[in-house]
Amino acid sequence: MMSVLELNKSLLQEMITYVDGYAPLEACGLLAGKEARAEKMIGVTNQAQSPARFVMDPSEQLQAFDWIESNGLDLIGIFHSHPTGPEIVSATDIAEAAYPVVHLIFSHSDSDWKARGFWIEDGSAREVILRVTG
Ligand SMILES: [Zn+2]
Repeated sequence: MMSVLELNKSLLQEMITYVDGYAPLEACGLLAGKEARAEKMIGVTNQAQSPARFVMDPSEQLQAFDWIESNGLDLIGIFHSHPTGPEIVSATDIAEAAYPVVHLIFSHSDSDWKARGFWIEDGSAREVILRVTG
């Protein structure tokens, strides 16, 4: 289990720009990095094209896994957006979590996107602190 995920401000902004461009639909993607530090985001088409759920396009997801491996990185996170909230993972997110990685939720309230991280295991979610640097 991971309790802190580090990422830099520009990577966070890159994900916000991506999910904002996808709104009002949910956006989704993968985060690659090393140990507890995220280094790269890869947006994946939301096959569900829904404002309330996401299904990653399987072939894009496989391509992303290949890219991550060939660049010597690991899959360390999955992000998706909740364009109309809530800030936390949903019961569906918990039920469908397939990988032992940090799940980042970008939720929209007022005019800002907010990011929170969660570790999902054995049917429950615990908050992961996002440490944003430089
Ligand atoms: Zn969700």
